[in-house]
This record gives sequence, C-alpha cells and structure tokens, in this order.
Amino acid sequence: MPSTPGGSDASPGESLPGLLVTDFDGTITRHDFFNLVVAEFAPAHLERYWDDYEAGRLTHFEALAGIFASIRGSEEQMRQLIRRAEPDPQLAEWVERLRQAGWQVVVASAGCAWYIEQILAQAGVTVPVHANPGTFHPQHGLRMTLPTDSPVFSPTLGIDKAALVRRGLSQGRQVAFAGDGYPDVNAARLVPAQRRFARHDLARALQQERLPFRRFERWSEVAQALCQVSLLPPRG
Ligand SMILES: [Mg+2]
Repeated sequence: MPSTPGGSDASPGESLPGLLVTDFDGTITRHDFFNLVVAEFAPAHLERYWDDYEAGRLTHFEALAGIFASIRGSEEQMRQLIRRAEPDPQLAEWVERLRQAGWQVVVASAGCAWYIEQILAQAGVTVPVHANPGTFHPQHGLRMTLPTDSPVFSPTLGIDKAALVRRGLSQGRQVAFAGDGYPDVNAARLVPAQRRFARHDLARALQQERLPFRRFERWSEVAQALCQVSLLPPRG
C-alpha cells in the first residue's frame, strides 16, 4: 500500500492544529526495524552497503533499500519481526489526547511504509505516514521504492522531514519534532527548543551543536509534554 502522499492535512477553512512531526523507528518504536532485520537475517552484503553509504557512494535510501531487498525470509518471519518492534504501549491513547489538545500527529520516516503502516494498524492508530512505499515477497525481500510523487520528496532519504516541518511553519502552525537519528537533525533544527524532542544519535548531534532540546525515552513523554502546551489564542 502506498504511503499517504501528503497534500493538505486539514480541510480548507478549518483552523489548523499544531503539528507534531515524528520519526518512527526508535522514536515511536523501541526497536529500529532495520536493526531487527539485521539481527534476524544478517542480510547479504550488509557491510558493503553500509560502507558504501558512509563513503558517499550510496545514498541512505540506496543502502537501506539494498539491505531490505537482501532479506530472504517467509511472510510469517516478517510478521514476527513486526510484532517485535514494540511501539509505545500508550501510543493510541496519546495520539487521541494530542488530537483533543489541538495537535495533529504526522509520521515522517526514511524507512518503509510497508512495516510502519502494519505496526501502526496493530497499535490501533491512524495517522498520516510519509515514508518510502514498499512490498514484501519471500523471493525478492522487502522492495522499497522512492516516493517521487510526495510533496516532501528527497532523492537521498525518500522523505525530506525538514520540508515537512517547513511546510507546517509556513502555514502558521506551531510545529514540534521528535526523533532519534542523524537523518532527523535538519528537521529538529527548525523548531523551537521547547518543541524539539530528541534521544540517542539526534540528542548527541544537537548537543554537539549546542542546540537545546527536550530529552525523551518513550514517545508518550513527548505527547504528554505537548499536551501541556496551550494552543488556545491568548485572551484579551
Ligand atoms: Mg529513527
């Protein structure tokens, strides 16, 4: 199934809600799907793909797509892998609480919509997903394609998370960002410190840049913090 292509995230004439742009792997879930794949299948040529990426010979998308395409496993093995990702157990509850507090949640990922949408569906959550489309077959692995029709398309990552944040800001919305990796740095830089949430590699990168942020361990902590930010216009 293709990912949500983007477009307008609110009906015309409606007042626009706040926007939480959130990474998926390692941010909403405890375990990065890529790491689960590596642990389970040790895909062929894994190191070569990653060396080529680090040396600039392959883009992030090309390396990840190459590794996912090397998976040789059954549908059942993939289903088990999806069950091991461990999304925040309170995800559905906090997406709803955010909605009630005036925040829309949008997932932005350099990973694959194929597993993201299944994990979200199992958690009972429906939110827009910007990610690379993909299909799985035991004979060709997880085949990921570039979302060239996305309004926030990036040729190197698939999805340009910073463009998604910029789009929200240009609509006059309050924008928050949460992430855990180096591909999240550009997007995180664009939001104010009190709405910049980071862990792991993203936290390290922001510390090096001396950019303040709010540290989180579980995604529901991000949601909880945002629910305390009033989005109502100041009175008189
Ligand atoms: Mg991540």
